[in-house]
Amino acid sequence: MRRAAPGLAAREEQERQDALKALREICICPGCPTYNVCAEQAAEKFFCAEGGSTVCIQGEHGCLCPDCPVHAEMGLSHRSFCTRDSETVQGYGTPER
Ligand code: SF4
Ligand code: SF4
Repeated sequence: MRRAAPGLAAREEQERQDALKALREICICPGCPTYNVCAEQAAEKFFCAEGGSTVCIQGEHGCLCPDCPVHAEMGLSHRSFCTRDSETVQGYGTPER
């Protein structure tokens, strides 16, 4: 009996991880007025996918997300992910509140 090529699922998962890593690289959070030194030192960003800032970012002082290439690439509907949590948590595809 023939079986699926071994490692196919692993390769697909690796491709998914590589794609996410590439998107993380172009996240423009570090240029945002809301971003801070704490978040930088904790290597926090890419909040739309990885979820909100754990402790570093509390207040909102503007948001660059709508201008970020990742926002269009991923078809996001929300913003201020650092304080309001990921796109999934805010409701993927639902209009911004
Ligand atoms: S949409 Fe916002 S959180 Fe997501 S990658 Fe762009 S700047 Fe970062
Ligand atoms: S998620 Fe939006 S508000 Fe938060 S740091 Fe990134 S660009 Fe700024």
